[in-house]
Amino acid sequence: MTVNIMDYNINNEGFYGEFGGAYIPEILYSNVENLKKCYLEIIENREFQAEFETLMRDYVGRPSPLYFANRLSDKYSTKIYLKREDLNHTGAHKINNTAGQILLARRMGKTRIIAETGAGQHGVATATVCALTGIKCIVYMGHTDILRQNLNVQKMKMLGAEVRAVHSGNKTLKDACNEAIRDWCCNPSDTHYIIGSTVGPHPYPDMVARFQSIISKEIKHQLLEKEGRNYPDYLVACVGGGSNAAGTFYHYLNDNRVKLIGVEAAGKGVDTAETAATIKLGKKGIIHGSRTFVMQNDDGQITEPYSISAGLDYPGIGPVHANLAATQRADYYAVTDGEALDAAFELTETEGIIPALESAHALGIFKQKKFEPDNIVVLTLSGRGDKDMETYINNFKL
Ligand SMILES: *Cc1c(COP(=O)(O)O)cnc(C)c1O
Repeated sequence: MTVNIMDYNINNEGFYGEFGGAYIPEILYSNVENLKKCYLEIIENREFQAEFETLMRDYVGRPSPLYFANRLSDKYSTKIYLKREDLNHTGAHKINNTAGQILLARRMGKTRIIAETGAGQHGVATATVCALTGIKCIVYMGHTDILRQNLNVQKMKMLGAEVRAVHSGNKTLKDACNEAIRDWCCNPSDTHYIIGSTVGPHPYPDMVARFQSIISKEIKHQLLEKEGRNYPDYLVACVGGGSNAAGTFYHYLNDNRVKLIGVEAAGKGVDTAETAATIKLGKKGIIHGSRTFVMQNDDGQITEPYSISAGLDYPGIGPVHANLAATQRADYYAVTDGEALDAAFELTETEGIIPALESAHALGIFKQKKFEPDNIVVLTLSGRGDKDMETYINNFKL
């Protein structure tokens, strides 16, 4: 298959193919335009990069290990490596992005940070870097999520953030995004909005992917050391908004030797109404400033997504993934709640690693796809399972 390299780099308006862009209300224009003008210059600055790298090493604990999963490999007769983002400070890949964005915000002279959060993971990662830099932090969170995610709410408070409950709509992630955007409209000069995934208007998807690209940068070095070649046959990652997957794929996007696999949450099944498989079921539309696939009804109303995993139930998908799917550069699979739970228990029993439920969806690939014995498969374990223990306990099979 021939792949047009340009399809995976955004153009000046932030489009990946026909996806992406910045569909924003007039009132946000100057904020987004300002960010668009300065983000590349700041990120590519040598001092900024040195500061980011130091933080990644000494605070986040990078490089995260690339671990050869011996017993899991035996079981599926292939070579499986796990990229251990679960071992990062705060327990997931999200800190790579929030650390990058807080340094950027500081350079832009911003003194106030806002963020949205669903399960609270991005809220905790944002509150963490705000405590680290002494910058004021406000996290918007749906009231329904606040009730379900008490531990993360308490963590954010302990870290000094103000958690603002959102009572509109279904009182979940999508509504928290809307409220954060509203805040940004009212406070354009002093505030930076830290979006938690490769979603939202340009330049967010590109900026977040760049901060997360440290994942594939490390995989290259680590594979060369372990396998004598710097590329795998397959890369596998779960996809909510798509940031850990975008970071995992980033440095391999134009390398056709590497097959890319994203795994969405099928919820109770792609043939039910309770699902979050946006690439399988979504239609082209606009959500939070970006043209992409969106879960919507026949009238174009955005529908509520469902997954057992709170980190995957976003009704959209990052535009880079919409384009990777449309151009068939990457394949997307859908894994159900039950399959993800099975995969989580299996990893725990075979490798002694309790994964986040989101990451367990990626692990579900081994039941759906057969790999060859000499294939090298690198799967990103996006987070650890501490936050999901209650769900796991309720599903113990005794
Ligand atoms: C938030 C989260 C995800 C989903 O977000 P992406 O932007 O798709 O990576 C996946 N895994 C974990 C552990 C998360 O916290």
